[in-house]
Amino acid sequence: MAHDPRPGQWRTATLSSDLVADYKPFVMVDGEGVRCSLYVSGCPFACAGCFNEAAWSFRYGRPFDDELEERIVTDLGHEAVQGLSLLGGEPFLSTRVCLRVVRRLRTAHGRAKDVWCWTGYTFEELLAEVGAGQQDKLELLTELDVLVDGRFELAARDLSLAFRGSRNQRVLDVPRSLAAGSAVPWRAG
Ligand code: SF4
Repeated sequence: MAHDPRPGQWRTATLSSDLVADYKPFVMVDGEGVRCSLYVSGCPFACAGCFNEAAWSFRYGRPFDDELEERIVTDLGHEAVQGLSLLGGEPFLSTRVCLRVVRRLRTAHGRAKDVWCWTGYTFEELLAEVGAGQQDKLELLTELDVLVDGRFELAARDLSLAFRGSRNQRVLDVPRSLAAGSAVPWRAG
């Protein structure tokens, strides 16, 4: 069974060592179009059947350093690339790394390139985290375009779904969801 944190229980400041499990440029499976995908390390949700169990440990992988940051920024500048994808591990528990990359992208490209993020938190849980004083989670949310939210549930697994692995997970339009204060589905195009 996946772990269910209380609001404010899990924090980047106390859990993350700013390690990344992987970086894959020019992929076509982590969202819409050609993307650069960063997989951060550490995820305490521990969903049964997780696609990336190796990255549960916050000590897995390698440090996120200036060299990798510059490589990602360069790759994102390629005209064929639609945007950045943040996966895990749990991006909302690696907010230092994610915010570094996303802010470089926004400085260089504004909203011309998009940012997708996969999280084990639901959108409602993230709002509760923000309500519990986790400002970094709000800062990351406000930089996102699309959020695929919720734990992976083995009993609800459906291989026919686009961008998500189980039926409980949702693909959300983040700016519209934040404006509404509730989850708004993302629509392509
Ligand atoms: S939230 Fe995602 S990365 Fe974390 S254990 Fe669940 S499926 Fe794996």
